[in-house]
Amino acid sequence: MVEPVTTSDTPWLEADAEPLIRIKGVSKKFGDFTAVNNVDLDIYQGELFCLLGGSGCGKTTLLRMLAGFETPTAGQIFIDGVDMVDVPPYERPTNMMFQSYALFPHMTVEKNVAFGLKQDKVPKDEIAERVHNILKLVELEEFKKRKPQQLSGGQRQRVALARALVKEPKVLLLDEPLAALDKKLREQTQFELANIQEQVGVTFVVVTHDQEEAMTLSTRIAVMDKGEFQQIGTPTEIYEFPDNRFVADFIGSANIVEGKVIEDGSDYVLVSTDLGDVHIDHEDSVKEGSQVWVAIRPEKIQLSKTDPGKSGPNHITGKVDDIGYLGEMSIYLVRLESGQIVDVTSPNQIRPRTKSQGITWEDEVYLSWESSSVMLLNK
Ligand code: ATP
Repeated sequence: MVEPVTTSDTPWLEADAEPLIRIKGVSKKFGDFTAVNNVDLDIYQGELFCLLGGSGCGKTTLLRMLAGFETPTAGQIFIDGVDMVDVPPYERPTNMMFQSYALFPHMTVEKNVAFGLKQDKVPKDEIAERVHNILKLVELEEFKKRKPQQLSGGQRQRVALARALVKEPKVLLLDEPLAALDKKLREQTQFELANIQEQVGVTFVVVTHDQEEAMTLSTRIAVMDKGEFQQIGTPTEIYEFPDNRFVADFIGSANIVEGKVIEDGSDYVLVSTDLGDVHIDHEDSVKEGSQVWVAIRPEKIQLSKTDPGKSGPNHITGKVDDIGYLGEMSIYLVRLESGQIVDVTSPNQIRPRTKSQGITWEDEVYLSWESSSVMLLNK
């Protein structure tokens, strides 16, 4: 087990905390194409950090540069204070867990896990003890004599994890670690992975395109697009305080509409949009007349069939255009008089009394939301 260097849960907020990984002005070009463009990032000991972005955004290239499989075109990577420029992959304090798991099919679980230690000429007794401990941690002891094809997808994933962790790297790099699993198993495995990471204290850097996975797993997330970071923050910061439209739209869903600032009050802003005049809690000054975007998450909008009364400044009526019934919640697409479609989600907390009860297509509905729930974006 690795002892955390810092005891803080949020070392990135501490001015004097030393990062375990420092990425400084790193770029990677393939010919004329820039896959990673001048990125800076500090990752701290014990973090489970996700690089999140769509296909081709450069996240795998960045991970491969940390592993030493790619060389940066510009910039520097430090791990534990050491410049990695001349350090080959096998001498780096990192280990990589590949998407395909890359297990040896002819070897048992035990032998797969022991393989790297044997190659490093670790004494036999120590190998046996470390393999035993790590298999216990990933709850695979009873399967140690099986071969990979005799295991489920989730179990194979845990063998790959054990094999990577048994070498006690300072940093474990995981490329889409759960992509090979089906949805239900993936959800369950997300928690297991986070649990194991917490127990071993090894810093994990995970590449994923799955925002739900990133939100569940991470201490912090870097949202990437076109080789650049759009935002770096905790899951809550990224979801509730997105820096721009790309992040607001990429993480979860949001109703994003363009608007013009019509009033800049001391603690609010009024913006004219296709959702009507939207009142937003906002302390900073915004230029009247400027173009902005207003974003509201679907779950932050209240929807009712009856007039709830005008208790707050943000309310509007519309007609239900479409409904998606998902069991635990429903999605409503509501068309406003302006033609704007608003996406609203509502938890199905109360079971309808009859099969036909509830809101249905073409119903006139009332929408309202809190001024504090609206996100004001200027890019
Ligand atoms: P995905 O989730 O699809 O793997 P990604 O975000 O991991 O996407 P990268 O694999 O980092 O993306 O690739 C970023 C860009 O760099 C892509 O446009 C890709 O085609 C390009 N690229 C990656 N490796 C090479 C290479 N060896 N030669 C040329 N172009 C490359």
